[in-house]
Amino acid sequence: MKVKNADLKIITPGKTVSRRKFLKSASAAFAMATVPLPRFSILSRADRNKMILSFYMDDTNPEVARPEAFRKFTEYCHLHGIRGESSVILGYAGTSMVREPDAGHRNFLRLAKESYAKGLDTHMEVMTHHELFDFYTGKKHETGIHEGLWLHEPSVSVLEYQKYFSNILDEGEKAGIKFTGLTWPGCGCEFCTSRYNELGNEVPLHLNQAVFDALLNLAKDGKFRGRVIPVFYDSSETDFGIFRKASDGSCGVYNLMPNTKDHFGSYDNAVEHVNPDYYISADGKSGILVRHYENNAPYCMWYMHWQGMNPENGAGWDAYRTVTGRIKQHLKGKVAWMRPSDIATAYHDVGGWGFAKDL
Ligand SMILES: [Zn+2]
Ligand SMILES: [Zn+2]
Repeated sequence: MKVKNADLKIITPGKTVSRRKFLKSASAAFAMATVPLPRFSILSRADRNKMILSFYMDDTNPEVARPEAFRKFTEYCHLHGIRGESSVILGYAGTSMVREPDAGHRNFLRLAKESYAKGLDTHMEVMTHHELFDFYTGKKHETGIHEGLWLHEPSVSVLEYQKYFSNILDEGEKAGIKFTGLTWPGCGCEFCTSRYNELGNEVPLHLNQAVFDALLNLAKDGKFRGRVIPVFYDSSETDFGIFRKASDGSCGVYNLMPNTKDHFGSYDNAVEHVNPDYYISADGKSGILVRHYENNAPYCMWYMHWQGMNPENGAGWDAYRTVTGRIKQHLKGKVAWMRPSDIATAYHDVGGWGFAKDL
């Protein structure tokens, strides 16, 4: 675990550690460090048949693009056998879209409900992505701590987290949506930034262990879709892996890290953040996907954002189709798409990457 957050330690003092900024600077910090060692255990060719492919997509909600765009995205994934995860943030607009849905919300909720069958996990990027939600009034607090920071506060108890998560899971149930995991909502606001700096000053920044314990209890109660819960917390191109954070028998909670940056437009939906060659070149000979494959990494997992990825106004949508097309062309038979929850479950059941031999 020590190596895991070494990058955070490097960049923390006096700097912004919103996840977005952190992810950007983390790779720069690593580039300067002396030969960073990968955290995954390197598999031999015999230990890994195919490399697993997957992704997390942050910030998915109908305020960014119409539900039609989400339909187009999920159908594309389904048609091409692509598997990954997309967050659903039920209270992003300040009220729960389950309680007061307009026609667009109703459409989006139906698509979100159907997305698992199309190959996509559904993470709660907590309820609002901003201030905490009041489930009694059905409204987001106007002021107060942001959810992402709240997940880090050492004084919050297992019970408090459990109650809050349980309310979100119930809210999802009302629309037939079963959540599969949790994504830390990043935030670069002044208050969060300064508190993250404080929390990360003495020890590497990390979620309160009570978050994982609460998730485990809820998994044991059958509140999630599955019994093993992937959490999306941090990301690194070089220093990645899957880490058990809590477990009890057949249930577990894992930090499953993406190992690419976002070159599908990112959260600012900018053309300068679009680069299909970063993933795989047109001739299939270079790119991070190829590098991870050649290094015998067990998986290659992307990190992307709905702002840049969506087929309505996302700068990265064409790149996404280019990349998935190149994968089909050049890595046929060498990769296997999986949802994050399926990866975490298989890893938990075997106690390691052993299952990768049979993919
Ligand atoms: Zn987000
Ligand atoms: Zn904030």
